[in-house]
Amino acid sequence: MRIEEMFKTGKPVLSFEIFPPKRNRELEEIDDTLKVLCELEPDFISVTFGAGGSGISSRTVELAKKIRRDYHVEPLVHLTCLNYTKQEICEILNELEAAGLENILALRGDRNPDVEPKQDFQYASDLVKFIREYGGFHISGACYPEGHTEAKNRIQDIRNLKHKVDEGVTHLVSQLFFDNEFFYGFQEKARIAGIDVPIEAGIMPVINKAQIERMVSLCGASLPAKFQRIMSKYENRKEALFDAGMAYAVSQIVELLANDVDGIHIFTMNNPKVAKRICTEIRNLI
Ligand code: FAD
Repeated sequence: MRIEEMFKTGKPVLSFEIFPPKRNRELEEIDDTLKVLCELEPDFISVTFGAGGSGISSRTVELAKKIRRDYHVEPLVHLTCLNYTKQEICEILNELEAAGLENILALRGDRNPDVEPKQDFQYASDLVKFIREYGGFHISGACYPEGHTEAKNRIQDIRNLKHKVDEGVTHLVSQLFFDNEFFYGFQEKARIAGIDVPIEAGIMPVINKAQIERMVSLCGASLPAKFQRIMSKYENRKEALFDAGMAYAVSQIVELLANDVDGIHIFTMNNPKVAKRICTEIRNLI
């Protein structure tokens, strides 16, 4: 099923994000996680893709095939373009088409100072255009409630996003954020700019202080004072931090759902306990 169709039921969409196991690990190692995630009946599961520079990330496609074949859940395949040629992207599209995988999250990928970009694609919108011209795929895109770190300013960022949507994106997934006001403000600006596609809110449940600090330093999300207080208070008590992190994520989700968000995308970090806990808390809300 194409992801854009899932938003036509009138119910908020629920999705999970996972990453493939490392190359030296068996793909089957993720089965325990997938079993739990799929029992929670998400509308789809997205699978991350390496930014490139060291060969094509075929693990993503393998895992997406597995999710569809063994668990009968729709996968959304992330695909980055900055470090790939058109020929390489075309080969991946051929493989996805042959496997009947029709949903792609088209991304630029982060710049790696040690890797010279391939020059065929500069922005995600170039990839979106390429996939649209190839034909036959639903295309999702990424968006940034607090603005993308490289954007000149938020107005330009929204204009660039509008261009990406006009090239063929029919669903957006947001970067993580810890203050819903950023999401509401961004959503309002996007709608005013004529971006009418469904926007899913990306939620990152926190279970590890160091990990979250590293992540926000990379993606530019801000940490509200109330959130920092919770992390500081419980950072050395694993179980307490888990409870507090889940409660924070659930309170964000409850408020987003009450404000008629199009969907919730949970960055599970391959941790089935996180997804299970959150879904239990919100099961009567979706
Ligand atoms: P773009 O949409 O191209 O935007 C990048 C920057 O370029 C923005 O600042 C934008 O304003 C600017 N821009 C766009 N078009 C133009 C233009 N025409 N002229 C001038 N400036 C322009 N990375 C991975 O490597 N693998 C993953 O699996 C992955 N999954 C992700 C999932 C989600 C939900 C999100 C939010 C991000 C994910 N990322 C992933 C990270 C992503 O690759 C980075 O954030 C990257 O820096 C930008 O990607 P993009 O597709 O948003 O790029």
